[in-house]
Amino acid sequence: MASRVACVSCDSYDPAAVDAAVLRGLDLLGGASRFVRSGERILLKPNLLVASAPEKAVTTHPTVFSAVVRALAAEGAALSWGDSPGFGSTTGVGSRAGITGEAARLGIRTADFGTGREVSFPDGELIKRFTIAEGVLDSDGLVSLPKLKTHALTRMTGAVKNQFGCIPGMLKGEFHARMPDVERFSQMLVDLNRLLRPRLVVMDAVIAMEGNGPRGGDPRQVGVLLISDDPVAVDAIGCRIMALDPALVGTCVWGERLGLGSMSEIEVLGDDVPVIEDFVVNRSPSSTTGKLGSSLGKRLLAPRPYIVPERCTRCGTCVAVCPVAPKAVDFPAGERTLVPEHDYERCIRCYCCQEMCPERAIEVTTPLLGRLIRR
Ligand code: SF4
Ligand code: SF4
Repeated sequence: MASRVACVSCDSYDPAAVDAAVLRGLDLLGGASRFVRSGERILLKPNLLVASAPEKAVTTHPTVFSAVVRALAAEGAALSWGDSPGFGSTTGVGSRAGITGEAARLGIRTADFGTGREVSFPDGELIKRFTIAEGVLDSDGLVSLPKLKTHALTRMTGAVKNQFGCIPGMLKGEFHARMPDVERFSQMLVDLNRLLRPRLVVMDAVIAMEGNGPRGGDPRQVGVLLISDDPVAVDAIGCRIMALDPALVGTCVWGERLGLGSMSEIEVLGDDVPVIEDFVVNRSPSSTTGKLGSSLGKRLLAPRPYIVPERCTRCGTCVAVCPVAPKAVDFPAGERTLVPEHDYERCIRCYCCQEMCPERAIEVTTPLLGRLIRR
């Protein structure tokens, strides 16, 4: 049977409009009672990548969060919220994103994302054990609230990748170091979702992010919410919006292959899916991490992060988040007044530095030879 995704038009973050859109989307899928029952402990997981104001389109908008809270609280669910950001604390990042304030106003408890517990997952295709935030394990069900954005490693980030924030703190960086190629990293994300099984996804694509995402890109008006119980189908429709082939997105391909959901058999309910042909996203068929084993090939052909010196404030965030040891980006001779430099031999192309740079100073480029061969 085809997966069902409700696509609901919503032109702005006006609270009444978002409330109406969320309720309409849930009704199209059979109502909120299909997803939660009275008394159940339900965790809401927005995308809180880093501390950023809602209008930057880095994080899930607080009105989407509040609308889902109201819809599920009406069913009697006991709600909590949380995320493990890439940088900073849950409440600190949530504060800047407008979520902490909304949660306090609505009386929603903050879940514990600071500590984790190891969980066995024998059915994992690639990963048999995950450390999961206590707040997730203490709940009866997970509701995922992703933001539609571009991503240097996975091309797009949405419903499947949102669950990466259920792994607490710096443990996330270890997965990048252990799974340096995008295929294995995507399989890991799919295993994580097969373990956590979000029961509902409400994707914020009212204003998405294009270009140098998931932090340094540009907001792009799309005007829809996508709602489903299938995170793979939501991401596949997110790809359709971006005019991006989901076959190029590892989380979609592996998500379907490993039985998490469907990227190819989807019934869209509600409104037409807006297809934005000029959405700025990586549509190149070449791997985002490069596939060449030789160090020469890696240096001359593979995409790589690049620091635009004029934008760099020498804050050191890129150095702090780089998961490889020794660091693949660092201050020359430890001199913090200079722009950090990349060591492309050591770099595994996880793009955590590009993802976390607060100044949009890191871009991903392909060396000239690599660009010529692609053509
Ligand atoms: S994170 Fe960005 S601004 Fe900060 S040192 Fe690195 S490149 Fe420069
Ligand atoms: S330099 Fe950047 S892309 Fe390379 S391994 Fe470090 S964080 Fe990842």
